Parts: sequence; structure tokens; C-alpha cells
Amino acid sequence: MSTPQEIAVVGAGLTGSLLACYLARRGHKVALYERRPDPRTGDGERGRSINLALSERGLDALRRIGLERRVMAGALPMSGRMIHPVAGGLDFQPYSRDGGKAIHSIGRSALNAALLDAAEAAPGVRVHFGHRLTGADFAAGALRFETPGGTVHADAPVILGADGAGSAVRAQMAASGAVREKVAFLDHGYKELTIPAAGGGFALDPGALHIWPRGGSMMIALPNPDRSFTCTLFWPRDGASGFAALDGPAAVERHFRTRYPDVPPLSPGLVDDYLRNPVGRLGTVHCDRWLVPGRGAALIGDAAHAIVPFYGQGANCAFEDVVELDRCLTETAGRWDRALPLYEERRKGNADAIGRMALENFTEMREKVASPAFKLARKADHA
Ligand code: FAD
Repeated sequence: MSTPQEIAVVGAGLTGSLLACYLARRGHKVALYERRPDPRTGDGERGRSINLALSERGLDALRRIGLERRVMAGALPMSGRMIHPVAGGLDFQPYSRDGGKAIHSIGRSALNAALLDAAEAAPGVRVHFGHRLTGADFAAGALRFETPGGTVHADAPVILGADGAGSAVRAQMAASGAVREKVAFLDHGYKELTIPAAGGGFALDPGALHIWPRGGSMMIALPNPDRSFTCTLFWPRDGASGFAALDGPAAVERHFRTRYPDVPPLSPGLVDDYLRNPVGRLGTVHCDRWLVPGRGAALIGDAAHAIVPFYGQGANCAFEDVVELDRCLTETAGRWDRALPLYEERRKGNADAIGRMALENFTEMREKVASPAFKLARKADHA
């Protein structure tokens, strides 16, 4: 089990593509299976988290394989949060005392493309788009995929599930009795909106992560290289105070004019965006084990531990998984039977912790960042 022929990585999102790069660097052959067509040739999915914030945790993983510069070329540093109260006026809260530390707004598809390019360029990596995993036998190391050309079977002594929050690999593990999974969904969902560039420039300060804390709801905005901002509105999915309550253009306009009054003048397409873009679900994946004991099969990234996005740490945490798995392989001289349990032991507690913190941070972001008590506490911190 120490030098497997070909490792199967299921899911060529952020985690799977990065993982393929790391495994190729170790000299492994990698078959990377992705259910979608090549995302570099399409338009992307409307309303699905267009950008994300990468912090030092994620950058470290890119730096180790020489990708930091390429990815950072399209990144925008955000050195604090800019609070937008209903009453107007802005409040900038720096992330560090001297304002020198920043998180970075990065386009999801550009990041995925950079990772896929790197994986494809690595010796030994083959990417199979249009392959949706539908079956797995972990004892036999056998996989089944549905493809546009029909059913395809593959073998691999090591199978790594990097197929996201709704992981089919995890479902197969659960069906075999190896793991117990639960997904705890929030009542809140999210919808993406856009503030376009204004007169060729940014309509808001691009050096900040913008937050509109409104108690039961919240909106954030991150800058993009084309000088637009992608806004994400978090609100209950159902009920009289939530997305479902705004049933037409007039209701949408009225709501934003009263609750987010500085936004409509900056976003001419706001009503259309609101009515056309889908409401995404948010949840935390709880999985008691990340591997099939005694078999070369494990989960990584969102497949193991999807979290709510309020700390902006899901992808960062997934990238740390990859670095840790690589470290475990080094420490065990490439023995997968020892490396996988070690990886699970070292990462699971950390992932559980950031999952809890992300839920707690939702309360802070939508309520506390605007409260007088919070501001006093910050002043004391920075005194
Ligand atoms: P995914 O990105 O979900 O990729 C999984 C891949 O597997 C996909 O390509 C999918 O097509 C493929 N796949 C799925 N099923 C199959 C199958 N059966 N067979 C083959 N392939 C399959 N994180 C941050 O670090 N910072 C942020 O600011 C941030 N903001 C976020 C904002 C929102 C609104 C959301 C929802 C998430 C945010 N995240 C953020 C979290 C981040 O998006 C995820 O943690 C990250 O995408 C996880 O990457 P992944 O590759 O593990 O999973």
C-alpha cells in the first residue's frame, strides 16, 4: 500500500485540484474525476459564490507549490471591515493594529482555473471531466461514474473524496456503515447581488470587506478585479421576514430603500439580480469519521467538514487539510494505511472548531459589529 499505482481524487473543485498538485509532486499518478464539464470553458454558475476571501492559511498551501504569485496577481487585499449602518456614515474596523494585515478577495473561478491548470501541467495527473461518481466499493478499490458516454468503471487502491458538501463519496461511505453523516442546515440562505463599477472605478472602498449588519439579516460585499463588488445577502429562506417575503420588483425596491439605503443608488440591476438569482443553502457537515478504517479511502475539504461561510475559512481550512495530508505522508514514508488515520486525527478537531466558530461569527457579524458595546471593546483592544 506504500506506492499505489494511481490515486483517485473525486471532485476537481478547489480542494481536489490542489490535492492533485500535491500528490503529483510526491510522484503519484492521479486520476482526478469531476462531474461537471471543464469549468474553464463555460460561463460558471449564476449566483454561486463568485469570490471568496483567502487568508494566510490558504495562501500558505499555494506558496508551498509555487502558485501564490499567480493567484495573488488577481487578488485584492482587504485590511479591515467597513460597516454600513442603516442611518448612513461608515465605520472602518481594521483587522490588525497597524492595518498591515489583510485577507484577500479572489475570484473563485480564477482560483479554480489556476489550480486546474497546475494539476493538468503536473506529470502523472489525468483530469476526467463529465464523470459523476455514482458508486464505490472501498474494499475492492472500485469506482463507478456516469458520463455523457455511459457508465464507466475505474479501480484505485486509494480513493480521496474531495467532492464538496453534498459528497457522493461520503454518501457511499455512510451507506457502507463506515461513517455517520449529518448536515445541519441554517434557516438562513444566501443570494448574490452586484454593485458594478462606477465611472470606471470602484463604487466602494476596495480595501475593505463591506458589511451591512441588520440583526435578522446581513449583507457583505467583496471587491472584484473588474472593479465591481459581489454582495451576498444572508436572510431566512422562508417566512414573512426572509427572501420569500419580497415577491415582486416594488417589494424588493422598497425593502432595499429602507434597510440598505446606500445600496440601490450603486446597483442599477439590483431588482433584476434579486428576482433572478437563486437562494443558496448554508449548512455544516458533521461526519464522525473521515475515512473507511483499514481501507485507502478518505474525505477531504468540504466533503469532510463543510462549514457556514461567516468566518470565510471553508476553502482556507480545506487547503490546510491538503498540506496536513501531505505532511502525514512524508512522516509515514508514504504509508497510506498510517497516513490517513494520522491526517484525520490531526485535522478533525481543528475542522470541528472552525465550524463552531463560523456559526458564532454569524451572530457577531450581523449584530455585534454595529453595536456600541462592540465598538467600545474594540477601542479598548486597540488602545
Ligand atoms: P467544492 O468547491 O464544492 O468542490 C467540489 C467539486 O466536486 C465540484 O467541482 C463538484 O462539481 C464536484 N463533485 C460533486 N459531486 C461529484 C460527484 N458525484 N462526482 C464527481 N465530482 C463531483 N471559503 C473561504 O475560505 N473563504 C470565503 O470567503 C468563503 N466564502 C464562501 C461564501 C459562500 C456563500 C459559500 C457557500 C462558501 C464560501 N466558502 C469560503 C467556502 C468554500 O467555498 C468551500 O469551503 C470550498 O469551495 C470547498 O472546496 P471543495 O473543493 O472541498 O468543495
